[in-house]
Amino acid sequence: MCAIRHSSAGRTSRCLRDRSRRGLANRRRRDLPSAYVKSASERRELLKAVYEEARDCTCCPLHQTRTNVVFGAGNADAELMFIGEAPGANEDRMGLPFVGQAGKLLDKLLGEIGLDRTEVFIANTLKCRPPDNRDPHPNEIEACRDYLDRQVELIEPIVICTLGNFSTKLLRADMTGISRLHGREEVRVVGSRAVRLYPLYHPAAALYTPSTLETLRSDFHRIPELLALGPPAQPQISEPVPDADEPVPEFDELPPEPPPVAREREPAAQLGLF
Ligand code: SF4
Repeated sequence: MCAIRHSSAGRTSRCLRDRSRRGLANRRRRDLPSAYVKSASERRELLKAVYEEARDCTCCPLHQTRTNVVFGAGNADAELMFIGEAPGANEDRMGLPFVGQAGKLLDKLLGEIGLDRTEVFIANTLKCRPPDNRDPHPNEIEACRDYLDRQVELIEPIVICTLGNFSTKLLRADMTGISRLHGREEVRVVGSRAVRLYPLYHPAAALYTPSTLETLRSDFHRIPELLALGPPAQPQISEPVPDADEPVPEFDELPPEPPPVAREREPAAQLGLF
């Protein structure tokens, strides 16, 4: 197991954050002490620490042939994430996801629903380019999966759009193809986070096939409706167990919990280093 990938930086991120302004009614997760709630800026810093890990990652053979690690780009506090397959040649060269024609189409579709890249986060399941754009190997997927889980845990999106077969099958842990699943949302747990998973055709598949483009566009236009549902109920999160040599406070020594306060989502925190 890779020491770099499993270092503790960023793993303290299993926290609750304020619900989306559109999702307060959906919250069922019990309140945790405020010490475990991270602000958007704290989560952003933790995300940068994960990026620093990934940038030096040698956990699978792809590190030998990459030019840049393509960690992802966008808003570290995004309600909407897109997850593609793996970087291509342009992405590898620039260190950014979706920079070619498929990326331009993604930008166009985002514009049609009133969003742009600064408001979403775009990543891939693999952070390094497979040589000659070959399919990822199982050992590469396994080695890289932890980065994706940690991204989701820190960004805390409401909706994740998987783009194409590869990320859809990976995040659903099921071999059902995109042609059957596109446009059908469901709640799934990614990492420790429950999200609204929404499979879409990959924009590259829609570039030269008008019927696929129309289907992608139609599915895409439902994204605002899904975002408006707010986050789904989250899995129960256990409070950290104190170290064995730390005295455990008696119940009546614990400070009183502050009353729950509904807070607005913090202003967008753009990951400037991308
Ligand atoms: S693909 Fe992922 S696991 Fe493999 S070297 Fe790159 S960052 Fe590490």
